[in-house]
Amino acid sequence: MPPMVHPIDLRSDTVTRPTPGMRRAMAEAEVGDDVFGEDPTVNRLEARVAELLGKEAALFVPTGTMANQAALGAQLVPGDEILCDEGAHCINYEGGALAALSGVQARPLRGDRGLLSAALVAEALRPETDSFPRTRLVEVEQTHNRGGGRVYTLPALQEIAQLARAHGLCVHLDGARLWNASAASGVAARDFAACADSVSVCLSKGLGAPAGSLVAGSRELVRAARRIRKRLGGGMRQAGILAAAGLFALDHQLARIGEDHDHAQALAAGLAEIPGLSLDPADVETNLVFARLTKPGWDVPRALAALRAHGLLAGDGEHGRLRFVTHLDVPGDAIPEAVRRVERALA
Ligand SMILES: *Cc1c(COP(=O)(O)O)cnc(C)c1O
Repeated sequence: MPPMVHPIDLRSDTVTRPTPGMRRAMAEAEVGDDVFGEDPTVNRLEARVAELLGKEAALFVPTGTMANQAALGAQLVPGDEILCDEGAHCINYEGGALAALSGVQARPLRGDRGLLSAALVAEALRPETDSFPRTRLVEVEQTHNRGGGRVYTLPALQEIAQLARAHGLCVHLDGARLWNASAASGVAARDFAACADSVSVCLSKGLGAPAGSLVAGSRELVRAARRIRKRLGGGMRQAGILAAAGLFALDHQLARIGEDHDHAQALAAGLAEIPGLSLDPADVETNLVFARLTKPGWDVPRALAALRAHGLLAGDGEHGRLRFVTHLDVPGDAIPEAVRRVERALA
């Protein structure tokens, strides 16, 4: 392996770089002070995403973490409890924000590779007494990251939403990869979003924007989220420069997102043949590929280092797994080469 080989970066769909067209759109963006509500590009993006998600309003925030936490904070008070899968992003990968910022506790449920069911939620409902925390919200992740990019079917989500509403619970949909779920299922984002009171979506994952997420919901919810955004230091000024990247991504990079799923399928099929890795390509529904490391005597850090030395960057998928993510900056013809590099690294 020549030392200067250009690495294929499959660590995350966040590693994409803005394309020349996107950079042009950013440079030319019309801007104003968004804390005054006067950035026309931010306003256009918020209206566009609210429309896409079938909600009254949306709010532009810097990150998916802030989107989730602003949405949750807008609907909860200290001492409340939420129900979510034990692998949920909002309780595992957001620095303890739910407890630290909202004073809320989570009751993690063991979903089916990340996915909850109405039955599982029903089992977790508590009677109202002075002792129990008040369960106020069900959080679902679409697609589910640690579940391997799995997609809730629309009926499964509707059933959870129905049950939640019947018991006075809100639903938050962490849709960091909601676009992937739509592409994989053919279900419109707004139909998934209709199952939830609040929805967060990311522009910086499959869509390929450099930064930015949105929270969508009722006007009242978004007003509350806006206050939390300010409190968290997320009120940006001429944020239209970033919003322009998001609009560009929706115009030019949303329709192609299914290609990442095709690439993930090809990658999974290749990886499944490699001794030392174990995965079932049928488990791959979107752009995330998790493979269990079965090479005797090896652990994940050693495998990742070997991959890196062979020009392939992958991520720690936890629980003895490697995570490979396909995205905009990995063209289809790079996949066979990626598989060859993994094969050589693990030989
Ligand atoms: C990436 C991600 C987020 C938000 O991440 P940020 O890095 O804060 O933008 C939220 N939820 C899920 C499921 C994610 O994968």
